[in-house]
Amino acid sequence: MKKEIDSNTIIGVVGAGTMGAGIAQLAAAAGHEVLLYDAVDGAVGRGIETVMKGLNRQIQREKMTEEQRDALIGRIHPANQLKILGRAGLVIEAIIEDLEIKREVFSKLEKICNDDVILATNTSSISVTAIGAALQDPGRLVGMHFFNPAPVMKLVEVVSGVATTRETADVVYALSKAWNKVPVHAKSTPGFIVNRVARPFYGEALRMLQEGVADVATIDAALRDCAGFRMGPFELMDLIGIDVNFAVTQTVYEQMFDDPKYRPSLIQREMVDAGRHGRKTGRGFYDYSEAAEKPLPPIEKKGPQPGGVFHCGALGVAERLLGIFDQRGISVTEETGTGSLRIDDVRIALTDGRTATARARDEGCDNLVLFDLALDYSETPRVLLAASDRSVPAAREKAAGLFQAIGKGVTFIDDSPGMVVMRTIAMLVNEAADAVHQQVATPADLDTAMKMGVNYPRGPIEWGEQLGLLNVLTVLDQMACTYGDDHFRASPLLRRIVNGFGTFHGRV
Ligand code: NAD
Repeated sequence: MKKEIDSNTIIGVVGAGTMGAGIAQLAAAAGHEVLLYDAVDGAVGRGIETVMKGLNRQIQREKMTEEQRDALIGRIHPANQLKILGRAGLVIEAIIEDLEIKREVFSKLEKICNDDVILATNTSSISVTAIGAALQDPGRLVGMHFFNPAPVMKLVEVVSGVATTRETADVVYALSKAWNKVPVHAKSTPGFIVNRVARPFYGEALRMLQEGVADVATIDAALRDCAGFRMGPFELMDLIGIDVNFAVTQTVYEQMFDDPKYRPSLIQREMVDAGRHGRKTGRGFYDYSEAAEKPLPPIEKKGPQPGGVFHCGALGVAERLLGIFDQRGISVTEETGTGSLRIDDVRIALTDGRTATARARDEGCDNLVLFDLALDYSETPRVLLAASDRSVPAAREKAAGLFQAIGKGVTFIDDSPGMVVMRTIAMLVNEAADAVHQQVATPADLDTAMKMGVNYPRGPIEWGEQLGLLNVLTVLDQMACTYGDDHFRASPLLRRIVNGFGTFHGRV
């Protein structure tokens, strides 16, 4: 097997579509000569044309000269027959997502290429083990999962199947680094890292919509404004294509042998069946017609300005609110308690996974209003609240008044376990813990993958540790108890770490 691939190595790329053209550009930019092949006549020409257009945009932005563009394009050579790729020192496949067709192509490549040539697949959902099984030497096949657009997105998941040798994975890892990418090692399991760990981001939003917890605009705004994600889950599904996102969810669910953790959503199937596939069809969770206005989350009317607030026991990650009250001239008086704020007979507390109604009953306090998690309480422009069914209307008004007094827009959602942000983050942390437990990736690689592959504001493992893994586990256990559904079962590794040292650090 090749020990190293330098820029003198010729790179073969099979498939000149969205990903193949991007990978060819990337390899050529790193100084390699590239042989680009596609089964469809004219596809290579169109692929090179796409690369050309992208480079012209870079010239307009003065990031590249015409000479650099011409030199780069000059290194991408159309190959009109697969056998020409026999000259390559590494071949990367980016053809249609179909196991049988990929197997067929790799069987041919194995005969065409020298024995020491690494064969890589850009598959996003097919088992690398299953593709490799078609080869005489499956040790040479590895996943090299780029993200779209390949020249821009930093992450490469280097995916090892059962037979992939460590040497093969290490060579591709080192090459990805040389191409200025951020590689991570992953085991060939459904969804690899990113497409698995990201499932709750969409899945919980869809469940909450189905349960009437909040509308699309509120859930999106909460995850953007309060949690720091670049886009809300519904905006993102509309961009990706609701049909594409549904297909990935279904594939992961089926490949996981119908594990309820990954169960797809009825609402999403309805959207697919209705032909509302997102931006590309002009209608998804949002309406993209010219006349349409983007809906906004409902904002609660102004409540009474509080003179002061009682601080009854530590608020955990929401303790930061006390300094903000102080800055805004709201006096804080200490009182013993189990972690809440109090204005008159109204208790205001951070969600712990119980509904406000259940917690009001547990704690013998009818006028309970819960607030949702925020990444940074001083920065967030918005706070979500949920009132106990047993509360009087004045409780809701007083709680709203408190957050409005520190400059926050307040949106009430229906009383639900874990609210919107806490529920989503707890489920992401849980999925990340499970992926670590099942040896898919190390905690560090997993966090890197989520930050680089899908621009998460924090890696889920790091986020869980900042929230306190015990708090996360409590939220998960409360949700599992309320729903009685294995969908919410906590990862055994998360439970073990909570019972042990409380951190993933240095564990794996
Ligand atoms: P695409 O449809 O844009 O391009 C696929 C190309 O492969 C087409 O030009 C097609 O003519 C060609 N092709 C099909 N069968 C072939 C064969 N037998 N031999 C040679 N060429 C053949 O698809 P894409 O979006 O570039 O996806 C390619 C691969 O990359 C898939 O495995 C996909 O899962 C994966 N991927 C896609 C994305 C993405 O966002 N599009 C991201 C990561 C990975």
